[in-house]
Amino acid sequence: MSSTHTELGRTPDGVREVADGVLMITRALTNSFLVDTDDGLVLIDAGLPRSWPYLVAALAAHRSGPDDLVSVVLSHGHFDHVGTVDRLQRVHHVPIHVNEADVPLVRHPYRYDREASRALYPLRHPGGIPVLARMARAGALSVRGAEALGDIRPGAPLLGGLVPIPTPGHTYGHMAFHLPDRDLLFTGDALVTFDPYTGRAGPQIVARAATADSAAALSVLAALTPTGAGTLLPGHGDPWTGGVEHAVLNARATGPH
Ligand SMILES: [Zn+2]
Repeated sequence: MSSTHTELGRTPDGVREVADGVLMITRALTNSFLVDTDDGLVLIDAGLPRSWPYLVAALAAHRSGPDDLVSVVLSHGHFDHVGTVDRLQRVHHVPIHVNEADVPLVRHPYRYDREASRALYPLRHPGGIPVLARMARAGALSVRGAEALGDIRPGAPLLGGLVPIPTPGHTYGHMAFHLPDRDLLFTGDALVTFDPYTGRAGPQIVARAATADSAAALSVLAALTPTGAGTLLPGHGDPWTGGVEHAVLNARATGPH
């Protein structure tokens, strides 16, 4: 809760290169990642509806457009990570992949289990209020679902060499993605460096207001450590370059909120 924490996690909206061949697309402190792979351009998570112009700009940096995406892989089905999937699927015919347990959530991105009511968070965590307002302005209240393929399974590598790591807890079908040859770990909302619900920065799990099972979310962090990844790219907040072990220790020490 130190002041340095509130200085972090203020990544401005836009597109920036965060690793070799990886563009981070940020809108309202919510990230998705355009990854240039041997198999083509893969989008990890799909942001909020109004992240669309940034996605187009990121694709343009590769002299490409939405039709050129080979796949979208979703860490999970929450509304703030699926905001452009309807358009990508309907208009551009891009296949959308997620673990089967989150297929219903991608279809109905607001129908998710959570441990605590969102209503109390603005009172307890006023730091989250401006962030949630930014998310609303970015279209968080008008996300349309889509029919995702429920085919992301443990041990079955994805296009581009992404290795899915089951991380249920935040949602029941949550997956992280390891890209071993680039030493990158896309953590989705299994481990973030900024929590939109509390406005708090630093490695942590997401608040109970948006997490199905915090105890599971904390214990499943153990699945990330064996990757030994040096850089973590989270669903919310800045990249973490201090290594996975340190991030997991921090998140465990911080605990649930
Ligand atoms: Zn989430």
